[in-house]
Amino acid sequence: MTEILVKNGYIIDPTRKIDGEVADVAIKDGKIVETVSSSAKVIDAKGKVVMAGAVDVHAHVAGPKVNVGRLFRPEDKLFKSPMAQKNFRIESGFSVPSTFKTGYDYARMGYAFVLEAAMPPLHSPHVHEEIHDTPIIDEAALPVFANNWFVMEYLKNGEIENTAAYIAWLIRATKGFGVKLVNPGGTAAWGWGLNCLTLDDPVPYFDITPAEIIRGLVEANEYLGLPHSAHIHQNNLGNPGNYTVTIDSLKIAEGIKPKNKFGREQVMHSTHLQFHSYGGDSWATFESRAKEVMDYVNKQNNLTIDLGCVTLDETTTMTADGPFEHHLNSLNHLKWANVDVELETAAGVVPYVYDKDIKVCGIQWAVGLELGLYAKDPMRAFITTDHPNAGPFTRYPRVIKWLMSKKAREDVLKSFKYSDKVIDATNLHGIDRELTLYEIAEMTRAGPARALGLGSMYGGLTPGMDGNVAVFDLDYKAMPTDPELIERAFQRASWFIKSGVVVVKDGEITAHGNKRTIWVNAKVKDNRQVNRDIRESFKRDYTVGIDNYPVWDVLAPNPLVIDVNAEA
Ligand SMILES: [Zn+2]
Repeated sequence: MTEILVKNGYIIDPTRKIDGEVADVAIKDGKIVETVSSSAKVIDAKGKVVMAGAVDVHAHVAGPKVNVGRLFRPEDKLFKSPMAQKNFRIESGFSVPSTFKTGYDYARMGYAFVLEAAMPPLHSPHVHEEIHDTPIIDEAALPVFANNWFVMEYLKNGEIENTAAYIAWLIRATKGFGVKLVNPGGTAAWGWGLNCLTLDDPVPYFDITPAEIIRGLVEANEYLGLPHSAHIHQNNLGNPGNYTVTIDSLKIAEGIKPKNKFGREQVMHSTHLQFHSYGGDSWATFESRAKEVMDYVNKQNNLTIDLGCVTLDETTTMTADGPFEHHLNSLNHLKWANVDVELETAAGVVPYVYDKDIKVCGIQWAVGLELGLYAKDPMRAFITTDHPNAGPFTRYPRVIKWLMSKKAREDVLKSFKYSDKVIDATNLHGIDRELTLYEIAEMTRAGPARALGLGSMYGGLTPGMDGNVAVFDLDYKAMPTDPELIERAFQRASWFIKSGVVVVKDGEITAHGNKRTIWVNAKVKDNRQVNRDIRESFKRDYTVGIDNYPVWDVLAPNPLVIDVNAEA
């Protein structure tokens, strides 16, 4: 293995509280080490910023719904398909890029790890095939649980142990990473053409409410002691006035403590909070309630969130929130795909244009940034765009620019057709805060790594951690007055070393690295009732046999398996 020494950069590493100290980073055998020999390859980072590889806590990058997006939006490929470089693969797509472009673009921005945020269990082999196909970045995937028939049957009787045993089986079978909730109960109701817009709406047939599903899955997650907390996309996404449902579902986590050995403090991760922080009672009175939501989040140490920032692009929305996509299609009348996944979940895909000349889009843009700017603890608030739902992940550098520069935000606000109305309906214009590089490193590296229970591997530059090091062309001592230069620097890293391999130089891909799939081998003591329920349901209800259901090892050929035993 090679040795690398990244010399004389400004180190930004929140895991060691280092903010701009000039120092070296040594890498050997794929890990950060104290020192290397004199034969190490030297990378001169003088005058540049050095951070750990970044961690994306929530994106939709692999699997059937992503592929539906690619198939039914050929126009998405017309935006950009540069010629392939020698020995590399052609890149295509903008909001739903090809697997190759996904890996390359994340690497160019210095990302080491990405969490696929919604894996339909029945289609988990497809998810893993696409993950395997995506170069360079390490990935894991969250199977969806909150509309699963087994889960609803167990939880309506308050059977946490049985729920946990089923979750452990499903996470093992799908080579999954944790517990995802999407529109709890609402996607199951969608099978009857219904939805659950409040926490107390009954789920048809199952006689359970979203509040009961959320509480039960958070408790089962902690019973198992998984690396990550329950990860929730709440009810009533995208609608005016939904912030009260949002705060009420966050309150369900009150008093629940994490029981894990992985260093996280939260028991609930609330995702793409931008879509859940709206006031008003119609599109005419639509307004930001980001402040109210963050006032609550700031007080609760057992919560983490990600922003889900709108980037004002033409994009492709895709979610297991099937009823929401039907609703969105009735608003914008573009294409609509709907998929049902038997016994487990559903999904929808709808293109969307976040138009600067539409007042609601401008308000959504402001809400995402307000959430980040109101966050008192950047270790608990992470930068995402719910890729591709609020915008493509390739816009993260633009979001960073907006968070770091009031001037950049004001320029966008001024460019809106309904600028005054957006300013009236939001607080952004009155917020002066500009995030620092250190806070950005917390939001994109140390924070999400800790929330995922992966803080011993990712998010910092401590010896022993993975050798993921990004060098950006920014002078810590003399940050550019032109905010465009911030975006440019984060878009194309000067260098990115992934697991000890130089994969990016001057913003161009130089190697395919050594990509891994991370999954959790969750175990509970033998539960004969759940084992029998699973076997019988597969005979009775599923169209696939139980032997054909689990993800084969060949589909995740370079795994990093995390063992979790609830009994230990
Ligand atoms: Zn999402």
